[in-house]
Parts: sequence; C-alpha cells; structure tokens
Amino acid sequence: MTSSYANAHRLFLQASMSERFFTETKAIEMYKKAYLANNVRRPTETFQEFIASINQKLNTIDMEIRKSHDETDGTPVWALVNTNGDEISKLVTEYTAVEISYFKHLIELIVTADYEEFSVSSITALREASKLKTSITKSAAESLLQKFVEDKWLILSKNGKYSLSQRAILELQVYLKETYEDNLIECTLCYDIITKGQRCDVQQCKSRFHHHCSRNYFASQTEKVCPSCKIAWKESNVIGEDNNNKSKGGSSRRKNKRATAVTREGDEEEEEEEEIEEVVAEEEDERDY
Ligand SMILES: [Zn+2]
Ligand SMILES: [Zn+2]
Repeated sequence: MTSSYANAHRLFLQASMSERFFTETKAIEMYKKAYLANNVRRPTETFQEFIASINQKLNTIDMEIRKSHDETDGTPVWALVNTNGDEISKLVTEYTAVEISYFKHLIELIVTADYEEFSVSSITALREASKLKTSITKSAAESLLQKFVEDKWLILSKNGKYSLSQRAILELQVYLKETYEDNLIECTLCYDIITKGQRCDVQQCKSRFHHHCSRNYFASQTEKVCPSCKIAWKESNVIGEDNNNKSKGGSSRRKNKRATAVTREGDEEEEEEEEIEEVVAEEEDERDY
C-alpha cells in the first residue's frame, strides 16, 4: 500500500512538472491516472488530501501546487509554482535576458495602467520595445508578443489589448505582489489578485469582484447591492480593458517604481528540476517492498 501511495504522488508531480499550468479537470484526471498506473483502483487519499501531501513535500524546496480561477470564465485552474519570489527568473530557459526584460516591462505597463484597465494596447506594446535598454525591433517584438500569448503568459483581446493571463497571475504572484504592491488590487470576495471583473459604482468604495465571484455571491443574496456601501451593484461597471472608469472621472493611478529585480543567470530551471527529482526520490525511498 505504501508503495503505490508514494508512486502515485511521484507520478502526479512529474505530470505537473511537464504541464506547469492545467485545469482542475485535468488535475483530477492526473490524480486518478496516478493511482491507476499503480494498480490502485480506489485512491487512498481524496484529491484535496493528495495535493496537501504533495505540497507538504514541495514546501521544503519553496514550491507549491496552487489553485486559482481563470478571471475570464471562472474555470478552476492549477499550477506548479515557486513560492520564493524569483519565479520570473525561472523563465531563463524559455526566453533570453532581453526578452525577459521586455516581458517585465509589459507587466509593468499592464499592472500600472490608469483607470484599472490592467491592459496595454498592441501599439504601445510595440512602441515600448524600441525604448528598452537593449531595444527590440518591431518585427522581433511582434513575434515575441505572439510567443507570450502562445505560452499563455499574456492574453490578446479582440480589441488588440494585452493583459495578464491566469497563468501569469498564478505563477508570478509573489513577484507581482512584491513589485507592484501599490498597484495591484484584490477581489473583495476571494482575495486573489483581480485584473478583470466588476467594481462598485461608488468611486471611493474599494469593492471589486471577479465576474465568477460576483455570480456566486449574488446567487445567495436577496439584494444586489455592494456589501460595503449598500449601493446597487451594476455588473456593467467593469475593471479591465475598455471600462468606463475614465469617463466617470476615475482616478489615474500612481506609477510604481520600476521593477529592479535583476534576472538571475544560468541554470535555474535545471537546479529546480534536480530539487524536484530529490523530492521524488525521497518518496521512492519510502517504498515498502
Ligand atoms: Zn474573486
Ligand atoms: Zn461599494
């Protein structure tokens, strides 16, 4: 029994390492498969217990399997994340230093956008590429932006605006919170970072809801009012791109000091994989022959 227990966790971790970012449906499928592969028809732990056991192991190497909800449609999603704040440096195997500095600059433009728009137009995104310390040509920037979207770091809307994907919000959470403390806002209901959702009609009120959090919350309420100031809640009052906060005299936000974190060089990713392998090996040692 102990043998299959440890092996199931090991298999799930390996799958998480290759997927990095996945839906909850996929996670549950991976969980069931991990047991079946070890000829265990009935999992010995519930999905929650299973994840908790893995996270207990991962804790020692500053990693975690973390849950969130996609801001656009509320889909539950999971990711294998670093919890020590240097998540962005882990991108070095996927992107060059110049590409990462462009990505960081895009994050800054998105996070510090005025009127809680949390997005940047493609025109601005391309123009900014030429302003970097090591500038990027327009065509290189175009293909790089496309890659950021393909790799699920950014979302491109039909109106040509880039915003943070749920993967970015989930995996870069520590970096985002440490670097943009003054600019980021939280959903009043789930306390997760919010860059797309609804806001209270009252300019001074801080209530902000993800669309899915709003749906869930009002489903159990008799009145559709802001929980804080009791003013009627309008779902059409959105935050994110093309909102109407500007016309309503919403405030432009303070610019944050530029991100100064230096990209760490070298084989971070390799190091990380080795660490995970060690955790995996440790579990294998616990096997009961
Ligand atoms: Zn929320
Ligand atoms: Zn309010």
